[in-house]
Amino acid sequence: MTAETAPIVAPELEAAGPHARRLTVPVRVGSVVVGGGAPVVVQSMTNTDTADAEATARQVAALARAGSEIVRITVDRDESARAVPEIRERLARMGLDTPLVGDFHYNGHLLLANFPDCAEALAKYRINPGNVGFGNKRDRHFATIVEIAIKHDKPVRIGANWGSLDDDLLTRLMDENAKLARPAEARAVTREALVRSALLSAALAEEIGMKREKIILSAKVSAVQDLITVYAELARRADYALHLGLTEAGMGSKGIVASSTAMGVLLQQGIGDTIRVSLTPEPGGDRTREVTVAQEMLQTMGLRTFVPLVAACPGCGRTTSTTFQELAFEVQDYIRTSMPEWKKHYPGVETLNVAVMGCIVNGPGESKHADIGISLPGTGEFPTAPVYIDGKKAMTLRGPTLREDFKKIVDDYVQRRFGVTRVGAAE
Ligand code: SF4
Repeated sequence: MTAETAPIVAPELEAAGPHARRLTVPVRVGSVVVGGGAPVVVQSMTNTDTADAEATARQVAALARAGSEIVRITVDRDESARAVPEIRERLARMGLDTPLVGDFHYNGHLLLANFPDCAEALAKYRINPGNVGFGNKRDRHFATIVEIAIKHDKPVRIGANWGSLDDDLLTRLMDENAKLARPAEARAVTREALVRSALLSAALAEEIGMKREKIILSAKVSAVQDLITVYAELARRADYALHLGLTEAGMGSKGIVASSTAMGVLLQQGIGDTIRVSLTPEPGGDRTREVTVAQEMLQTMGLRTFVPLVAACPGCGRTTSTTFQELAFEVQDYIRTSMPEWKKHYPGVETLNVAVMGCIVNGPGESKHADIGISLPGTGEFPTAPVYIDGKKAMTLRGPTLREDFKKIVDDYVQRRFGVTRVGAAE
């Protein structure tokens, strides 16, 4: 095959593209469907004390408004369990039906049994098979949670975790491995224990009577290569819907990069039905950042579209002013702030593409690829900024009102292209 005769897109690459999702059993979590080919769901978790219903409802609302489609809350003691129905009511008064997931460790069997209103108000229960109890109590506690979930018709997430792995299972696998002629590395055995912990617990839940379409699995680890291996194995061995996320991903750019690289590899293989980006917030930082990062990850991979993205060049020695960076930030911020209103009136507006470029080298070309693009003047260029709309040069901006003028152009374009014409409105 020569360069001239090669297909434009190799068939194997096309088949392995981001839209080739691995088919899992769909699970309904409140109003949201996870798996079964449904779009990858974004979820997040609060860090408030759940017993403080007012603060928790406020943070759930902030996460939901930022785009979190499911929100998990800690349910760790009686006061938290008691607060859950109130949190649900407060959210309803705010017009939000975001499904709430209860995160249980150690005492979930007691809390769910003692607080049936909490069990009913939650849309899903998260069970960590390594943290439901010890020795012979483990299976009994696990069974109790599963039975309560069946009674309330709720799905569960069986979430195994590297940091709280079932000790008995790990010890057994380590012993078996040690007897082999060529034992595997301890890390590989630990990964296998994590996969088995999730799958054996799911099998046990099914034996107790839980339907397959009520089970989501996760197996969280904190290292990128471990996550990729563990989830590839889970996906190979079963068709349960998968919750994907790197645990303890870290702070700032480290957390974002680690989550994106690990989840990006898996999502590209069609693995992962719902994701959470676990970022360690800076003190006083914005909890909704993890939602924005998750959305941007899915959007930049072409898996979902949430908000219009602004493409901006990185800048270089051809542009010595910071005007284009400031404009790019301002426009992205303007779009994010406008989205709640825009979404109500302009269906499809999330597909809008805007480009803000720094000079003539790539500016006009990149701007033509966007719906609206502006090419700002680089060093030594004439101080004007051509604006391109739908690939054609539409006008030239200059002077101190340039920023406001450009935002107005974006506004007008959104109205013209995405505005719904009301039939009969003229009469
Ligand atoms: S568009 Fe111009 S300013 Fe921006 S990176 Fe390219 S050459 Fe540099």
